[in-house]
Amino acid sequence: MIVNLKSLLAHAKAHHYAVGAFNVYNYETIRGVIEAVKETHRPAIIAFGEKYLANMSLKEVVNLVRTMTIGLDTDIAIHLDHTKSIDIIKKAIDAGFTSVMFDGSELPFEENLAKTREVVEFAHRQNVTVEAELGSIQLGGHSNEDESHEIYTDPQQAKQFVLETGVDALAVSIGTVHGMYKGEPKVSVERLIEIGQAIDHPFVLHGGSGTPLPIIHACIQNGITKVNVNTEISMTVVEEFGKMISKNPEVHFSQLSVKAVEKAKAVVMKYMDMFVPVR
Ligand SMILES: [Zn+2]
Repeated sequence: MIVNLKSLLAHAKAHHYAVGAFNVYNYETIRGVIEAVKETHRPAIIAFGEKYLANMSLKEVVNLVRTMTIGLDTDIAIHLDHTKSIDIIKKAIDAGFTSVMFDGSELPFEENLAKTREVVEFAHRQNVTVEAELGSIQLGGHSNEDESHEIYTDPQQAKQFVLETGVDALAVSIGTVHGMYKGEPKVSVERLIEIGQAIDHPFVLHGGSGTPLPIIHACIQNGITKVNVNTEISMTVVEEFGKMISKNPEVHFSQLSVKAVEKAKAVVMKYMDMFVPVR
């Protein structure tokens, strides 16, 4: 069933687990996530970023997901990942996305708050949930996100931001990176605890790829209900393509496509296993 983040994250919060938000950009990645959902019966968030509009249109994403999930009784949200343009957010809602992320993390606090509130007012009228980001997440290796400086989320600002915007989920910056970690991950669970003490709300961890299991579990115990995974899906598929092509330079594209679905599904299932209930 296609849902928004509200019921998904409320259930996850009540039962101490996190829902994986897996980045998709083509048929293979979408099918990989949906096959993992069908096999595990665990909910998932299909996340598509504005960066990938060269790969697929918003309507194509929605139509493909809806077609592939006919008759499926496990919950799936169609979420627009990191988007700075309010115009694209409105187009995604029109196209049938059930959730959107407005990323105003680079804006001054007051401007991020005002614009996020504008998005929330618009989206909620159409039963679409909104994620926003406060603080700034660092860039690691193999990432497709923009360069940025790391700024940890301030707990008091988080409280004010959630209360004044009405966002359904808040992405926090506590030391994870977009992409793969360069060196030892330094994630501040203490900061997450401080944010949770200031405001009790569903929090989102970006940069799930490569985050060690004990850190993921500590984050879930302390309010993270959605974890984003992108880079590892891409890396795993590309690595496999490299092997297949070097073994057989005449390999048919259809075989690569089948393998891409299989590999994407395997990464999704690996992370689903990490996001199980923690107490
Ligand atoms: Zn992100």
